[in-house]
Amino acid sequence: MKGNNCVFCNIIQGEAQAYLVYQDELVSAFLDISPINDGHVLVVPNVHAADLATLEDETAKQMFVTAKRLAAALRAALSGVEGINLLLADGQMAGQTVFHSHLHVIPRFAGDGVGFPHGNRQNPPTEAAMASICERLSERLRSIDNS
Ligand code: 5GP
Ligand code: ZN
Repeated sequence: MKGNNCVFCNIIQGEAQAYLVYQDELVSAFLDISPINDGHVLVVPNVHAADLATLEDETAKQMFVTAKRLAAALRAALSGVEGINLLLADGQMAGQTVFHSHLHVIPRFAGDGVGFPHGNRQNPPTEAAMASICERLSERLRSIDNS
């Protein structure tokens, strides 16, 4: 998308500098300018899509496949990589700051201090709430699949 003032579009079009590690017809991958850990890569669609809702399925698939390959490459290329986190912030409330959708591939090192607060919720939902959420979600998913 030309003239949209998007920093990731500028990188993909070669109008802004980045350490490009991979590019194909659908996606590009480059180093994050402010990495959580060394080797932190962003996988982005070549065609501007602000969020998941506007991302083509084929491109979304290629983003995940590319992240999977990058995870293997990071483990092989950088010493001390003991794990990988994939993260996609969709929407401002989820922490998205650049509105050209992107998948973070973050290598993890022992004792790096990076934290993600999952699995320690103090007031987990009741069984009834879980069942209700599951029912509403699976029903809505069927209509999205068929659209
Ligand atoms: P978000 O918070 O939207 O999930 O992540 C945006 C990411 O883009 C941040 O990790 C930030 O460091 C990175 N970023 C922002 N501007 C630039 C840039 O100009 N170049 C690169 N390579 N990364 C950027
Ligand atoms: Zn863009």
